[in-house]
Amino acid sequence: MLEIKNLHVKLEDEDKQILKGVDLTVPAGEVHAIMGPNGSGKSTLSYVLSGRDGYAVTAGEAVLDGQSLLEMEPEQRAAAGLFLAFQYPVEIPGVGNMTFLRTAVNAQRKARGEEELSAAEFLKLIRQKAATLKIDSEMLKRAVNVGFSGGEKKRNEILQMAMLEPSMCILDETDSGLDVDAMRLVADGVNALRRPDRSFLVITHYQRLLDHIRPDVVHIMADGRIVRSGGPELALEVEQNGYGDLLAEVG
Ligand code: ADP
Ligand code: MG
Ligand code: MG
Repeated sequence: MLEIKNLHVKLEDEDKQILKGVDLTVPAGEVHAIMGPNGSGKSTLSYVLSGRDGYAVTAGEAVLDGQSLLEMEPEQRAAAGLFLAFQYPVEIPGVGNMTFLRTAVNAQRKARGEEELSAAEFLKLIRQKAATLKIDSEMLKRAVNVGFSGGEKKRNEILQMAMLEPSMCILDETDSGLDVDAMRLVADGVNALRRPDRSFLVITHYQRLLDHIRPDVVHIMADGRIVRSGGPELALEVEQNGYGDLLAEVG
């Protein structure tokens, strides 16, 4: 379970406050969505949780399964069970997808004090996960994300998520220009990986994505805070009426 309390974040180099008291609890096994107007701080929230440079936490906390995240190095956060879908979208020419995933999985195992997987163990695991997610094994042989279509990158992201077995998955789909097929892939991937001990935070502009994922809770973020929370119907309300009415209500 992820608990964010009173999180305040500013830009490190500028006097600009971006998050102004975010309160958010995502219980184990639940899927929560965050929607909200452009510039409201959704991506900043995911960056700060991942430990990206350039932001300063000025108040508040974020705790994952009892572990305080904000002082940890990014690798420690991954070992604690956090996965961010935009963490590895980079193209890495010359590095095979398999090698990359094996390195990531073993780094995480090491950080957790677990034994590294042998080549054979890893191969068995990745084949099994790829088959479950209906991922073509050809993709595993190619260089990481090089020349991948948007859909293939999404598939790869879901595979990374499956391999790292996180307890908390954060997907920021806001700026990725998802077409309908890619949206479907993300939704199917999330649904396939749902488990009672795993939660998801899906950041999106698109109500349509939520048609396929069916979140337990939808949150609306505006001006650095969560201003409304509700069921999936909240996403439909946004789709039909925009944010204007909702935000006027909360002032
Ligand atoms: P969202 O994802 O909801 O569209 P963002 O988190 O990307 O919002 O941005 C929130 C606000 O913070 C915006 O006004 C954005 O311009 C600003 N911001 C975020 N990161 C930076 C940065 N590194 N430098 C300057 N401004 C930033
Ligand atoms: Mg934006
Ligand atoms: Mg964003």
